Amino acid sequence: MGKTSNQKLTALIRRDAQRFESLKQEVMQLAYFCKGTVLKRMMKCGNQQCACHRDPAHRHGPYFECTYKVHNKTVNLKLYPEVTPLYRAATQQHRKLKSLLTRLERHSRVALAHLAKQKLANTT
Ligand SMILES: [Zn+2]
Repeated sequence: MGKTSNQKLTALIRRDAQRFESLKQEVMQLAYFCKGTVLKRMMKCGNQQCACHRDPAHRHGPYFECTYKVHNKTVNLKLYPEVTPLYRAATQQHRKLKSLLTRLERHSRVALAHLAKQKLANTT
């Protein structure tokens, strides 16, 4: 490998490391996270004579729950309205974590390819 392309590669490797570090910083800043979606539900009650059984507009609620899957089974965690924002924020943090992991892996692949190229250039 020529001197110029070697310097270019060194610059790329330095940039890779900086990007990886800044993504890691974002991971460090995450708050509590949980998988799932916070849903608002309107429910029918047990009384067959109640208006909720005839008219969806008369259903009771809203009731909130956090649903997520564990081993392909859906889990519904009932939430008091007061704590709903807490769980909504946590599910957003979880989505952010997943997106960061995807980006970390993508950057890692690029960085590894650059490192491998440099290693091969130095041994031949
Ligand atoms: Zn009812």
